[in-house]
Amino acid sequence: MMLVSGATHEGHVAAVNAVTNAETKKVAHTLVPTGSFTDPEYGAIGMRQSQCSDAGIDYETSVIWCEDLTRAIVDDRTAGFCKMIADRRRHKFLGAYIVGERAVETVQLMATIMAGGLTVEQVADLELAFPAHSAIILMAARDLKYKLDPEYAALYQSGMVGSRASKALS
Ligand SMILES: Cc1cc2nc3c(=O)[nH]c(=O)nc-3n(C[C@H](O)[C@H](O)[C@H](O)COP(=O)(O)OP(=O)(O)OC[C@H]3O[C@@H](n4cnc5c(N)ncnc54)[C@H](O)[C@@H]3O)c2cc1C
Repeated sequence: MMLVSGATHEGHVAAVNAVTNAETKKVAHTLVPTGSFTDPEYGAIGMRQSQCSDAGIDYETSVIWCEDLTRAIVDDRTAGFCKMIADRRRHKFLGAYIVGERAVETVQLMATIMAGGLTVEQVADLELAFPAHSAIILMAARDLKYKLDPEYAALYQSGMVGSRASKALS
């Protein structure tokens, strides 16, 4: 599906190809965040869980509900959630699905994280501004970090770390 982001990028690349002698470039459209400005908003990027399963990828998921997000509570906008999927072997993000206030803005941050190839641990250890709707990414990354690290596994099972939502769904 073509979106404005891809169309403008293609236009820029086509113009550069047309007027310079540099090697001809192509647009791959590998990481394309999508979403819609509904109420609440929704946004998505990367692979779906079913696609990961079909591709035989060993993955882990985390779900954080907006009911547990400080900014959503403060703004009384607690409808929604963030679901993140990460590669268990490489600890890299495969996809993210977000419903809630500013979901499209939040998925932009996820696109940047995935384009930069950051690991679950690198994102979990970020010190992002508080309180923000996009902090739901931090919460999901920390939950994934606990799930992927064998040292945390016992703590996770005991309920001392990790999100209540992920545990309820796992
Ligand atoms: C209802 C709707 C909602 C959308 N909402 C979003 C959104 O929220 N976010 C998002 O990212 N994308 C959205 N899209 C998609 C987005 O509009 C397109 O991906 C984007 O406009 C594609 O840009 P483009 O320059 O390739 O083509 P266009 O924007 O379609 O531009 C092509 C232009 O070429 C002109 N043209 C065509 N043939 C000729 C000709 N023979 N001679 C001269 N001129 C010609 C057309 O009149 C048009 O002005 C939406 C699309 C629709 C239909």
